[in-house]
Parts: sequence; C-alpha cells; structure tokens
Amino acid sequence: MDVRTASREELLSLKDELTARYDEACSKNLKLDMSRGKPGADQLDLSQGILTEIQTNEDAVFEGLDLRNYGGLDGIPACKALFADMLHVKHENVLIGGNASLTMMYDNIMRLWVFGDCGGNKPWSQQGTIKFLCPVPGYDRHFAICQQLGMELINIPMKDDGPDMDMVEKLVAEDASVKGIWCVPKYSNPTGAVYSDEVVRRFASIKHAAPDFKIMWDNAYCVHHLTDDKIEIPNILEEAAKYGNEDIVFQFASTSKITFPGAGVACMTASVNNIKWAKNLLKVQAIGPDKINQARHVKFFGNVEGIAAHMEKHRAILAPKFEMVLSMLEENLGGTGAGSWLSPKGGYFISFDSYPGCAKRIYDLCKQAGVVLTDAGATFPYGKDPEDKNLRIAPSYPPVEELKAAMEVFCVCALLAAVEKKLAE
Ligand code: PMP
Repeated sequence: MDVRTASREELLSLKDELTARYDEACSKNLKLDMSRGKPGADQLDLSQGILTEIQTNEDAVFEGLDLRNYGGLDGIPACKALFADMLHVKHENVLIGGNASLTMMYDNIMRLWVFGDCGGNKPWSQQGTIKFLCPVPGYDRHFAICQQLGMELINIPMKDDGPDMDMVEKLVAEDASVKGIWCVPKYSNPTGAVYSDEVVRRFASIKHAAPDFKIMWDNAYCVHHLTDDKIEIPNILEEAAKYGNEDIVFQFASTSKITFPGAGVACMTASVNNIKWAKNLLKVQAIGPDKINQARHVKFFGNVEGIAAHMEKHRAILAPKFEMVLSMLEENLGGTGAGSWLSPKGGYFISFDSYPGCAKRIYDLCKQAGVVLTDAGATFPYGKDPEDKNLRIAPSYPPVEELKAAMEVFCVCALLAAVEKKLAE
C-alpha cells in the first residue's frame, strides 16, 4: 500500500496492524544499536596481527630509526610513503598525525582560527562572524567543530554526485566571509555519494572571494569499497594545483576503519606550503606522533596493495550486512511512500529519508522498542533537519542476526510514522 494515495480507511486498518506489530516488538525487550559507524568485533580481529609486529629490540629499530624515542614530527618516511600511495599524492604532501583524523581536522581549523593561513591572512577569529558551508546530510562531528567556534553554518544540498555546486560556487565567489566547506568526497557519510569528476574539477578551480578560503576534504572512506565497482575520484591536490588553488585544499584520511578506530594512524595531505605552515606551528604543540604504531601499520600492510587486500576482508564482512539492510528496506518499505534510500557502493552508512516530518518520530519509536539510531537531525548543522526526514543507518557494528531484528523494528516504525503523519494531515 502506498500511504500517499491510500484512503483513510486503508490507513486506519494499516495503523492497527502496525501498532500490533510494534507492541509485539516492544515486548521483546530488545537492546540493539545501529547508531554509530563502528566496525564489528570480527572486523577488528582482522588487524590483530598489528599488535605483534614489533616485539624485540631489533624490531624497534626500523629503517635505522629507534621508534621508541622522541622525534619525527611529520611521521616516519615509510608511513608517509604508504599514505602517499593510498591517496595518490607525493611524500612531500603528507603529514602523519596521531590516532585520529578528526583531531587533525580540529587542529587545522584551530591553526586557521588562531594564527591565520599560510598566505599571511588574518586569523579567522579576528574577522567577525565567518561562515562555513556544510553539505547535508553530512557528518555531525565536522559541523560540531565549527559550531564550537560560533561560525555560521550554511546547508548545501547533497546530490548523488556531490554538493550542489551552483550554490557552492555562487556563495564562495560572492561572499568573502565564507571561509570554507566540509567535503567527504567518496562514499560520503551518510549518503554514500561519490563526487563526480566534474564536481572535483569545480572544487579545484573554484573562485573564492575570501583569500583564505579552505576546502576540508575528508577522504575517510577512500579505500572502503563494498562492490567490485571500486570507484576512484580525481586527485584534488593535483587538480587544484592546475588552477593555482593548491593552498586551499586540506585532505584527511586515517586507518580508523582499516585497522583500529582509536588506535590507527591518521594523516593530513596538503600543498608543500601548507605542510610547512602546519609543521611550523605543530612543532610547538608536539615533538612527534607515535612512530611505533606507524611502523606496525607499515609492516603489517607492506604496501598499498596490502591495504587493498585487507579491505577485501572487511568487504566480505560488511557487504552482506548492507545487502540485508537494503533488501529489508525494499521488501518492507518499497512502494509504500514511507521513505527512500540510496544503495551505497562503499563507506559505512545507509541514509534514509522518511516521509517528511517523520524522522524524530521514527527515532523515538525505535528507541522505545530498544533500537538505538543516530539522533534524528544529527546529519545537519545544529542538529536541525529542516524537513525532519533524514536518518542515518549504521549497519557495521551489530552481528547479522541483531541487525536483522533491528531492521524489522525500524521498518515497522518508519511505516507507522508515515501512516500517523498522513492521517494527521
Ligand atoms: N570522517 C568521517 C567522514 C567519518 O565518518 C569518521 C568516522 N565516523 C571520521 C572522520 C573519524 O575518523 P578518525 O577516527 O580518523 O578521527
């Protein structure tokens, strides 16, 4: 039944049926979690070998460097080389960080905020209220960094091939208080969208009214394929250099969802100018990140082909979970008008757009039935989804059986919320 065209009688009888199913689900005292994009325990087991890569005194001296001692502000050469190959950039463009790319993003924004960019422009904190563009739905933690600093955030609709570039270009070209944009260019969080070559080129060639405009290019899911269609996108640093825009791009990545979230290695890649600028400020903040962990990762993978082979093992675990969620959505909600979703070819999420005005209700219904979702609204700046319709489904963490049980509840709640809404209209 399509709730958009069903009669009142049909809707009332469907509501009774769904309410009975919902009450039954509630009586099971479920405790299921589809809220955060964490790898499952079986995925973490894949990388356990990392922990035994360095055991003896001899292991601790790697390429002539004692990993246990101070030093190496920008990372050990072999780790830089590994990330450079993964992101198709040169070694000189890589700065290795600690265990989290989010920390590197935060630090980079802080450098711009407190000290100003490599071009000698005034710190952002001294330029009045500045604006940041946020493709939506997007990653809540990106938005939170800007919110913490009191920036004004502007929603940019996300399409299947990237953000609405007409809107981005206009705002960036006309308003010098627009200082930056967040981008997850590949298998984006949460829609799974991949930026088209054309979108990447438009970013690379963008005309910016602000001399200190910056693109925060978070390539968190660069090798996280879920299908044989292993999509590659153009190298933003190389493209931007063609237009004299190399200093506007900062790219980030990490092994959080390759090895261990919280115990992986992160990196920032940028122009030589920007790396020099960042290192010059960083040297006051740190003596150097964890070289032991960098070397363990290098030894464990060997090279970028080793990373690709490892990601195939993740895919073998993750793809069936995604397929199950997608087929349950199709079976239970296909043609009902209760929601729409995309089928991602990589990444960690499935983005669900409910019948307008139902996301919060679905979240609450699920919560009462023991199924935790990411907060409704979390995928938008300030937690405010103007149409109250987006929910982010994270299928990775629960085992398959739990995921199935959680999705059964989710589908009942999504349909029930749509029926209630339609009846109230
Ligand atoms: N960027 C995106 C787009 C993410 O989805 C996540 C994890 N959910 C992160 C960054 C966090 O990465 P890290 O662990 O390297 O801080």
